[in-house]
Amino acid sequence: MRTALAMAEQASIAKTQFLSRMSHEIRTPMNAIIGLDTIALQEHNLSKNMEDYLAKIGISARFLLSLINDILDMSRIESGRMLLKNEEFDFRRFLDSINTILNAQCQDKGLTYECVLKGYVDERYIGDDLKLQQVLINILGNAVKFTPKGGKVQMLIEQVSRSGENAKLCFAVRDTGEGIDEKFLPHIFEAFAQENSGTMTIYGGSGLGLAISKNIVQLMDGDIDVDTVKGMGSTFMVTVRLGLPARSLQRLRSETIALSALKTLIVDDDMLDCQHAE
Ligand code: ADP
Repeated sequence: MRTALAMAEQASIAKTQFLSRMSHEIRTPMNAIIGLDTIALQEHNLSKNMEDYLAKIGISARFLLSLINDILDMSRIESGRMLLKNEEFDFRRFLDSINTILNAQCQDKGLTYECVLKGYVDERYIGDDLKLQQVLINILGNAVKFTPKGGKVQMLIEQVSRSGENAKLCFAVRDTGEGIDEKFLPHIFEAFAQENSGTMTIYGGSGLGLAISKNIVQLMDGDIDVDTVKGMGSTFMVTVRLGLPARSLQRLRSETIALSALKTLIVDDDMLDCQHAE
């Protein structure tokens, strides 16, 4: 049994190394194809057909590149080589770049997008902002993908706890889409798992996104949970722990705040004003 175990482990390592090397090798020519395709599309006097072919080459090449990047991420996770950086970042800029991408995606598909900040958050945190962005874009991207036109995607952000050195943040991504079958739910974080075999053809995607996201979030001392009703929609709750820089400031970000989610205490000694407020 010991020999069989050693052989199985060896085979698994060989598979991971093979995938990782191949993905790495494929990435360079893939980038060249995408770059040259973009340049070719800028040529003047392209026929309608030629423009169409080049646009389709671009879409397929980008899909392949994202698949290769996912496989590389997965093999890094499996071999314990996924390392997170620990750098200070501006939370407003972080949210702005996510919201810009999501606003465009939702507009294209005819969905409403809302980002709600509940309560107070810090201006700056310490962590891997790019990896956290990758997780949120993947989950928000799924919400857009699986919600039909006219639906709504929402991201609710809350700092649920804060100590001197770190803070726990919760990002809840809600959609009014097709929801997830309870039979599929136990498998949702497995690599290459998709609820329907036709998902890849209709929507694209490889079924690796949530497996990668779960691993990244666990490296941030957090987790991902799902709450869903088939036919009604889903909520993905992502919690992570982020570091706090020394003398960090807590600020209210009024633009994105949903006032209905806030408890407000107004103190005023003018009886007339108090009557108006009522
Ligand atoms: P991909 O999106 O590439 O298929 P993921 O790992 O991100 O891979 O998601 C796995 C599967 O989980 C999806 O194919 C889909 O079946 C299901 N899923 C994920 N998010 C949602 C959602 N918001 N609504 C409905 N189904 C979802």
